[in-house]
Amino acid sequence: MVNAKAKLLSGIIIMLTVAATTHAQTSADLVIRGGFIHTLNPQQPTAAAVAIKEAKIIFVGDRNDVGKYIGKSTQVLDIEGLTALPGLTDAHAHLNSLGRSLAQLNLLGTTSPEMIRTLLLEQIKSAKSGAWIAGRGWDQNDWPDQQFPHWKDLAGTESHPVFLRRVDGHAAWVNKTVLKLCGIDAHTVAPQGGKIIHDAEGKPTGVLIDNAIDLVVRKMSKVTYETRIAWMQKAIEKCHSVGLVGVHDAGVDPLKWEIYQQLQLDDNLNFRVYAMLEDTTEERLWMKQWFSQGPFSTQGEMLTLRSLKLYADGALGSRGAALLKPYGDDPENSGLMIHPDEFYFQIAEEALHAGFQVCTHAIGDRGNRVILDQYEKALTKNPKEDHRFRIEHAQIVSLDDILRFAELGVIPSMQPTHATSDMPWAENRLGSERIKGAYAWRKFLDAGSIIPCGSDFPVENPNPFWGIYAAVTRQDHSRQPASGWYPEECMTVAEAVRGFTLDAAYAGFAEKTRGSIEVGKLADFTIIDRDIYVIPAREIKDTQVRYTIVGGRIVYQATN
Ligand SMILES: [Zn+2]
Repeated sequence: MVNAKAKLLSGIIIMLTVAATTHAQTSADLVIRGGFIHTLNPQQPTAAAVAIKEAKIIFVGDRNDVGKYIGKSTQVLDIEGLTALPGLTDAHAHLNSLGRSLAQLNLLGTTSPEMIRTLLLEQIKSAKSGAWIAGRGWDQNDWPDQQFPHWKDLAGTESHPVFLRRVDGHAAWVNKTVLKLCGIDAHTVAPQGGKIIHDAEGKPTGVLIDNAIDLVVRKMSKVTYETRIAWMQKAIEKCHSVGLVGVHDAGVDPLKWEIYQQLQLDDNLNFRVYAMLEDTTEERLWMKQWFSQGPFSTQGEMLTLRSLKLYADGALGSRGAALLKPYGDDPENSGLMIHPDEFYFQIAEEALHAGFQVCTHAIGDRGNRVILDQYEKALTKNPKEDHRFRIEHAQIVSLDDILRFAELGVIPSMQPTHATSDMPWAENRLGSERIKGAYAWRKFLDAGSIIPCGSDFPVENPNPFWGIYAAVTRQDHSRQPASGWYPEECMTVAEAVRGFTLDAAYAGFAEKTRGSIEVGKLADFTIIDRDIYVIPAREIKDTQVRYTIVGGRIVYQATN
């Protein structure tokens, strides 16, 4: 990257200052030794022991040399036979939604509307009278006819309002009770950036796309603050158990922000959250307030806010992604942009003045082009070397535009498991030409981009080793297709691990303090049962996390 030299220089300065203040008698809070440590520091790629004091790494090296850091009160963690990595970060995910999805009906992997109806009828038996039943995770692409469902498929559930989000969150399927409750009928006009799907008779089918989902959400009963806190804690626990030390939360509204702050104040935030501010109000008052006060980070870097999240378009699965030409399997439809082009320019410009990073969700090739154009316009007018503007997903990109990411310094923030989830149907949507610029990791890397990796959970499973497996193999868990889907786009293990560590850190302006195991950096580690750099790629998905350590604290320890 452009400032590799600057990064190296600052690394040296940190090492010098630490060396000057560290002496032999220093006793560490925690010593980890006995295993094999991949540091991701090119000057010292592997090690056998680390020492930690006050949440930072004070020693990286040999097992014999770490002894001098062991004092009376030092905790020694022996990791014989295990492998340590820098703590893994998911660079694009939704913590609150993960907590919510852990608390509601999980529809991931369901294979027909009938199966979902059966699950609902079971759930209704124990539900409070008239209470909303919520679920998430259906995907019509996994069903025999691959068609969007109808409220008629939910017959028998009318005693309760039923609201089921699609796996990508960009479509919802509701029952007849909800349509009635929300007054959605043949005459209802969808809000801008949304769509109400109609049947042959012109009546709503119960499937709502993007902004049309708000017609229902605003009628749903409010979730209590305590419930939200509990969701967030459950989600963080889940993340720790799969080896994540932090997340870039791709959409934090004032309520979620309040919850993060509450957890932080109560010393219950043992997880690093890089929050992308999301303000969906017309006036964007909350965003403007942030712009006038400037970026925020807590001492110890648990909670940071210096970026904002915008949406260019919808998703490919629900055909809401904005394409330059119509869908291959829906010739009347090219998807939709959420806002007029000028909107993205204006916000990018304001963000540059206020010192904030812009992260825009863009899936389709048109969505990506519009955002690159508007970023470029804003950056030409307000040049800034280290803006680190991001495009979230960068999923289908014209080949010419792939080069523009590196030229403009725009970071493609991508999710390896999206490729392996979408591969059964993506080519139908896009055709054989456009598919070449879809999930095109190798083309981005060759063009000089870095790729911070994430999962977009709860759209995908939060397990980062499933992400690394997908990145390296481009195969599903039954190892199909046999040689990988467009295998020329595969990442190496080293690139995928960088995506979840150093490159995620860089995408959050944190590469000086996180992302590798080096003296002076924060003591975050993911300790696993196998060395994913040397085992056959097919075994990466089965990796078990033994310990997750955040800021020198063991926040997860496997029990088996
Ligand atoms: Zn997302």
